[in-house]
Amino acid sequence: MMTTSFTEPTKGQAICPYCGVGCRLLMESACGELIRVTGVADAPANLGGICAKGATLPEVIHTPDRLTQPHVRPARGEEPRPMTWADALGWTAARLREIVERHGPDAVAFYGSGQLDSEASYLAVKLFKGSIGTNNTDSNSRLCMASAVTGYQTSLGADGPPCCYADIDLSDCVVVWGSNMAEAFPVTFNRVKAHLKANPGVELVVVDPRRTNTAKYATLYVPVAPGGDIPLMNAVGRLLLEHGAVEHDFVAAHTEGFGAYRDFLLHADWEGLVSAAGVPEALIRALADRVARSHALLTFYCQGLNQSTVGMWKNNSIINLHLLTGQIGKPGAGPFSLTGQPNAMGGRETGLLAQALPGYRFSEDPGHRAEVEAYWGRPAGTISTRPGLTAVEIFRALEAGRLKAIWIAATNPTVSLPDLHQVRRALSGAELIVVQDPYHPTETTQFADVLLPVAQWAEKTGTMTSSERLVSFSEQVVKPPGMALPDWQILARFGEAMGFSGFQFEESGAVWDEFIGLTAGRPCDMSGMTSGRLRRERHLRWPCPSVDHPGTERLYLDRKFPTPSGRARFHARLHRPPRETPDHEFPLILTTGRLYAHWHTLTRTGKSPKLLRLEPSPFVEVHPDDAAEVGLAAGQAAELSSRRGLIRLPVKINARLPRGVVFVPFHWGDQQRENVAANYLTIQAIGRIAKQPELKYCAVRLAPAPDALEPAATL
Ligand code: SF4
Repeated sequence: MMTTSFTEPTKGQAICPYCGVGCRLLMESACGELIRVTGVADAPANLGGICAKGATLPEVIHTPDRLTQPHVRPARGEEPRPMTWADALGWTAARLREIVERHGPDAVAFYGSGQLDSEASYLAVKLFKGSIGTNNTDSNSRLCMASAVTGYQTSLGADGPPCCYADIDLSDCVVVWGSNMAEAFPVTFNRVKAHLKANPGVELVVVDPRRTNTAKYATLYVPVAPGGDIPLMNAVGRLLLEHGAVEHDFVAAHTEGFGAYRDFLLHADWEGLVSAAGVPEALIRALADRVARSHALLTFYCQGLNQSTVGMWKNNSIINLHLLTGQIGKPGAGPFSLTGQPNAMGGRETGLLAQALPGYRFSEDPGHRAEVEAYWGRPAGTISTRPGLTAVEIFRALEAGRLKAIWIAATNPTVSLPDLHQVRRALSGAELIVVQDPYHPTETTQFADVLLPVAQWAEKTGTMTSSERLVSFSEQVVKPPGMALPDWQILARFGEAMGFSGFQFEESGAVWDEFIGLTAGRPCDMSGMTSGRLRRERHLRWPCPSVDHPGTERLYLDRKFPTPSGRARFHARLHRPPRETPDHEFPLILTTGRLYAHWHTLTRTGKSPKLLRLEPSPFVEVHPDDAAEVGLAAGQAAELSSRRGLIRLPVKINARLPRGVVFVPFHWGDQQRENVAANYLTIQAIGRIAKQPELKYCAVRLAPAPDALEPAATL
């Protein structure tokens, strides 16, 4: 229900602002405050489900550290001063214009987030690519989904998961590869558990170096070596070939590249594959047997595959297995990348990645640039022909002085990016840092020259796309604090302050309706999902090419793929070891990840007493033998160092970790306690095409800390 005053008790529905499951939540407010959040029973993503993070949203929205007014820091070292919107945006426009005049448009960058709704993502692209003229317009989705994007594009012809969550109930073998789904996507994993319980013959295969809470429910657990995914997938492919488990009719009619892939697998050194996979041969055979026997194979995967310098190849390799067995384009089957953030999919659709333009277009494609320029009424050549910088490259260029200004929205890179000492050096040298965020201070807002207050979840309307291509409209039930504005409105007002045309919008629906025009005829066609229709029907899956189209539950049921030949592609992918492997100085592998109770960098979940009771402070998990080797016991303070930094954390002993691997959750940053952030240690190495950093693997050393640790502060 929509309202305009927001003072009366109000109810409304919105998509959860945390993970990409996309739970639809019922918000209840009273006296202008959010008081209760529950799952919506008939919502397709969650069927009434909700996890602890969603349920505690009322605790983290109305907090004393909300930013309520724009601020500008007149000079470095001075305190930011409150300003009106007009003055703050005018000041920022003058500074940005001056930098562009002096150094050209590629001296500025926008670094956004999968937390931005599609309206904001679209306007960021229109502003930076279509008006300022730089492709340096990227997002923190680069840290989680870039490999999945390029994997789908190169294997299937276009980005986008082919499946939907309802496929869980139709699958007889669910594989979870490289995701602690039970903690990171709990509501979807609850559906998997319910399916297993109701159907005892259904298999759950979990492939992960860590024996996580997800693995507890597995009928088969495969402890792949860190970085050993491609040889394991290739070994499974080889066994499927040798044992006649190939779906030859599908392969012949709907794929290309099979011959080269088959020869590559059959000529691979078998012992080499087994050894690099790090899995006993009997377990590899058991995994291949499950794949071969399945009539409906559904594979979920996430950062374990994506956060790698060969993440795209890992995505290609898992899709190879689905093509080989014909397990795609039918109910209950397919490769299904889990999306880390609530609207990482929307960012992909609107073009908020350096290489992209709205509607799954590419900035390097002259035809695509011309189509978008014409749609926006811009002169030919407005969109730059130069490739844009991606997340890690933006911060490298900032440190090197090639980039002078950065606009950061809805993300906290001084906790989430790899090699945080480098990130901090980069920001310290920038000429202009604009940050739009609901909260202040965060680790990142402390660097800002301009602070722009944002209306967040429950305080604005907007549209997001979940992991299953479900596009949903979110309602507003409370007023934003003070002068805070929705992200899209800040960007629109700034576009006007810069003197650009095409930024006059009355409300979020008008932005959405302009955006979907750019998807017409594209693989992610949303042109039938007008804002009016989404407000009435709440959600639809793309493609949805006309206003009477019901939306599309599953892609590729016709076995036609959006490649020039209409066929999906096999890719023969070699094993490549991670970029930094253990040695005598740094003998252990650090892997990072999420916990059930927290979300990203704690800017919200760190304020919830209930969530903090579940997970109060950071830690390093260590195998008992690795701890004993350096004289550490449970609860003792450890120093963990890499070639890039050193952090201090209490030890948790975990016998379910493989020897030689330590695990640190990446949630905690300097605001809770200095020198606890996992990303002070991680490496900036990025993939060649996806440009995703290798956040799951770097070499570290563990030692007892000389002093006891201070307790972490609560926010
Ligand atoms: Fe929100 Fe994800 Fe929890 Fe659903 S599972 S309530 S989307 S955090």
